[in-house]
Amino acid sequence: MALNRRDFLKIAAAGVGAAGAADTAKALQRGPKPMPPEALGMLYDSTLCIGCKACVAACKEANDMPPEHTGQAEAIWDTPVELSGKTLNVIKVYQDGDMEQKDREVNGYAFVKRHCLHCVDPSCVSVCPVSAMTKDPLTGIVEHHADRCIGCRYCVEGCPFAVPKFEYNEAFGQIQKCQFCSHLQAKGQIPACCDVCPTGASLFGKVSDLSEEARRRLAGQAGERYVFTRGELGGDRPPHEAKLADYIKDIYGEKQLGGVQVLYLSAVPFEKLGLPTNVPEYSYAAIAEGIQHTLYKWMIAPAVLLVGLLYVVRRNLGRRGEAGNESGADQSSDRGQS
Ligand code: SF4
Ligand code: SF4
Ligand code: SF4
Repeated sequence: MALNRRDFLKIAAAGVGAAGAADTAKALQRGPKPMPPEALGMLYDSTLCIGCKACVAACKEANDMPPEHTGQAEAIWDTPVELSGKTLNVIKVYQDGDMEQKDREVNGYAFVKRHCLHCVDPSCVSVCPVSAMTKDPLTGIVEHHADRCIGCRYCVEGCPFAVPKFEYNEAFGQIQKCQFCSHLQAKGQIPACCDVCPTGASLFGKVSDLSEEARRRLAGQAGERYVFTRGELGGDRPPHEAKLADYIKDIYGEKQLGGVQVLYLSAVPFEKLGLPTNVPEYSYAAIAEGIQHTLYKWMIAPAVLLVGLLYVVRRNLGRRGEAGNESGADQSSDRGQS
């Protein structure tokens, strides 16, 4: 069967169109990345946090971070108010009205701990051009490797939780972020912030076990007595007994942005604690890498189209050369419709 340019274009357009339509659905995402099999993480229960900041001090000590002086307490106390090149973990407070009662949205207050959430599908790893950010395939801990870092700060821009910070005030500034105290874990210890937390608000463990623990708390009645583990889930230190709070019936971090390994419970809406809630269930890395791969794929389609067109043109020219002016009507028809 003779194939003219118009036929080829129709077939090619249909093919590319069909591929395009199918790809469009997938274009914005590649498949989600699964939680690593032995994922380690933390359950931060805001209702247990008393704002003592022992975790902030312990984090500084364990990671050899300098003090940070802010506000009136300058030059006396270490008073970080935000994550920075000197601070890997910070306790912030939500306040409303007269702040009468803890863990209440209206006229209340609540604490929230901020540090790296060790995303299941981390954008910081995805955007780093030199693999200075890595995710452990077994534990899922996301680490920054200063020896590989070129200081481009893509991770700073790429992190949806605004975690990595650059040491702008240092001559040879570096990226800083919570490494989940991997150096302590390598020695069989637990992260310093979980180790010192007096109430178990910061609890270390396997993410799957922490999820179950969070569900147990959510299944209880507000006001019911509950025995809260401190330090490490399954550890042997004396627990902390207190009443269950009137929780928001959700676990922050299980679904948001492809999931994270630091889970949150709270009695105040998560967005009030500064945790992004209006976000997709897939990670931004999945979207960005999906677009990238689709673009590459679509760059192949025009190339195939061009090669095909050249083939049709060459073949038609050859046929015309062989047939002379025999099929002029066909040629003019072809020309007229091209
Ligand atoms: S919270 Fe930010 S820095 Fe931490 S793993 Fe996720 S993307 Fe990376
Ligand atoms: S896990 Fe370690 S580095 Fe991360 S916030 Fe806790 S103490 Fe700091
Ligand atoms: S040590 Fe525990 S209770 Fe104290 S501020 Fe940190 S998370 Fe909250």
